[in-house]
Amino acid sequence: MRFKKHLNFSSLISGLSEYLLKIPDTRRQSSINYSVHDTMLSGLACMYIQSPSLLSYQKTILNKYNKNNLQTQFKVNGMPKETEMREIIDSVDGDQLAVVFKDYLTRLQRSNNLKTYRFENNKYLVTLDGTQYFSSKTIHCDACLTQETKDVVTYSHKVVQAALVNPLIKQVVPLMPEEIKNTDGSKKQDCEINAAKRLIPKIRKQHPRLSVIYLADSIYATSPFIKDLLEHDEDYVFRVKEGDHKALFKTIKDLIFQKKETVDHTGRRIIYKWATDVTLNNSSDLKVNVLQLFIVTPQKNGSKKSTRAGVWVTNLDVSSQNIEWLVKGARSRWKIENECFNTLKNQGCQIEHNYGHGEKNLCFNFYVLTVLSFLLHQILELVVLSYQEARKICRTLREFWEWVRVFFNMKVFDSWESMLCEIVITKRGPP
Ligand SMILES: [Zn+2]
Repeated sequence: MRFKKHLNFSSLISGLSEYLLKIPDTRRQSSINYSVHDTMLSGLACMYIQSPSLLSYQKTILNKYNKNNLQTQFKVNGMPKETEMREIIDSVDGDQLAVVFKDYLTRLQRSNNLKTYRFENNKYLVTLDGTQYFSSKTIHCDACLTQETKDVVTYSHKVVQAALVNPLIKQVVPLMPEEIKNTDGSKKQDCEINAAKRLIPKIRKQHPRLSVIYLADSIYATSPFIKDLLEHDEDYVFRVKEGDHKALFKTIKDLIFQKKETVDHTGRRIIYKWATDVTLNNSSDLKVNVLQLFIVTPQKNGSKKSTRAGVWVTNLDVSSQNIEWLVKGARSRWKIENECFNTLKNQGCQIEHNYGHGEKNLCFNFYVLTVLSFLLHQILELVVLSYQEARKICRTLREFWEWVRVFFNMKVFDSWESMLCEIVITKRGPP
């Protein structure tokens, strides 16, 4: 079990700690009380444990026991105050954390845990999704995206978030997010597609041996975007919508599709249809394969209603053998918004609300720390037995978080795993 050691909590935090020590500190040396290393790890702990008042609880524990969980579990030496934490995190260039995401993915590869994610042709499904994590009518910074409606300006922060998914696996593995942001002096608003165009070469560079099938929404299904993927030997399955692809929807109306029918566990008829070599639009020579999914539901009056549940385009070969699997893969895009990520994001928003927007990088860095905490939770749930047991013994995810929060803020534990074991023992009660 040597390899699994790379994936326990302490080892993952050590890896992060090493990278944080390398981040250059741009502050005046004389005014430094707390290091970037300690502050970023404290910020991560707030997100990971989901406790906005974590620092004050840990201070109480420190006074009582002479040490606290930030020291024992998160390798924090000096714990900053909240105002300092805000200032320091604001000053850090969060893009430097990309190496940590790469490191964690490599650890999963080395331990063979990533292999279980393989999809068609031994390739991996990677979803691309635009996410907004900050919006305000009053608070803003230079990097804020702006939108003006009826003389009211709304400021926001968004990212393109990529994540590795598999329809049969509950956990998703997020990659480093790409910020959608306005750069200095540019009047033009940045957009999701431009951010994705910056992100994909970064993924290629960071993970040269990872062969990818990209999953994304209708706005990605354009001829230049797809041609660029194909040039790099990458595959795609993109959702298409009638509003964005009028010509394609007109073409498929008259096309003869191949068909496969199954029945789902509730007795509904599921109809898969596919056609190959269809022109994507009138202005391009790009040919795509089209997948359609229909669900037939019986109505109260005895009739049957057929609803089109999705249309996708892809370059992958489609047959009656793989059509169900491909549609399942295409539909796993929602996984990135699964329960755990949403819980963390909502909690993260609350923490952002408590710590503010910052002037430079605070907002984005809190988002990155949120995604990094999410990744830690997903890896541990995939690999570590004590995590799986603690998660199983709690009826809901909410209950699990509550126990974690209470134990972490109550007394000192030597390690994250020993804390989880105690949660399990306490919940089980006496034998
Ligand atoms: Zn801003």
